[in-house]
Amino acid sequence: MTVVWATDEADYFDWSEPLAAGRIVQDDRIAPRVGWSAVVRKGQVLTIVDVGGNQSGDFLCYSAADTVERYSVPDTLAAQRNAYLVEGSVLMSNEGNPLMTIVGNEIDRQDTIGGACSKESNTLRYGHHTLFHHACRENFLREGAKHGLGPRDLVSNINWFMNVPVEADGTLGIVDGMSAPGKRVALRAEMDVLAVISNCPQVNNPCNDFNPTPLRAIITEADA
Ligand SMILES: [Zn+2]
Repeated sequence: MTVVWATDEADYFDWSEPLAAGRIVQDDRIAPRVGWSAVVRKGQVLTIVDVGGNQSGDFLCYSAADTVERYSVPDTLAAQRNAYLVEGSVLMSNEGNPLMTIVGNEIDRQDTIGGACSKESNTLRYGHHTLFHHACRENFLREGAKHGLGPRDLVSNINWFMNVPVEADGTLGIVDGMSAPGKRVALRAEMDVLAVISNCPQVNNPCNDFNPTPLRAIITEADA
């Protein structure tokens, strides 16, 4: 296996427009393997762009007013009665409130079952030599620390642009993505939310096509 490190950011251009109309209030490029966070105000839309293609954007969100209220996989899946996130899916909190709604989506489905990578799980799955590979859990901890969050605040997450098929017998896989350069997903905040992204550094399985590439996060606000 040849690992191609996407160290030359200039290799990846992105001319995507946000997936929602309105004024751009924030537009950030997220370098390969690093984290990002921002508060998205109620009514604003966060568009995440898979700049290089097949790049997992691990994602958590919290109520900005009280981060004890946070994204909940079981509440979200139970509410929509489906294993995949698609356009129209509502990201539910552990208190049963809508955090964000998917208002635009350019791949068939998005994953919220596969979980995030960590140094610990890497060593179990891929061998002790991977112990020093940077992982999503470290990105979440580093970004979360900027907002007073710690290890106990990390919960099961969403993996934008990652392909985790649920087979007919219930088997889960992590396989080559369905995404491609420039594919987008857009989330409207239903309350003020703290959004945290880990641009996944994983190179031991196909979730990033063995080639971590940039993401982009654009926040728009409807014109008054
Ligand atoms: Zn990861």
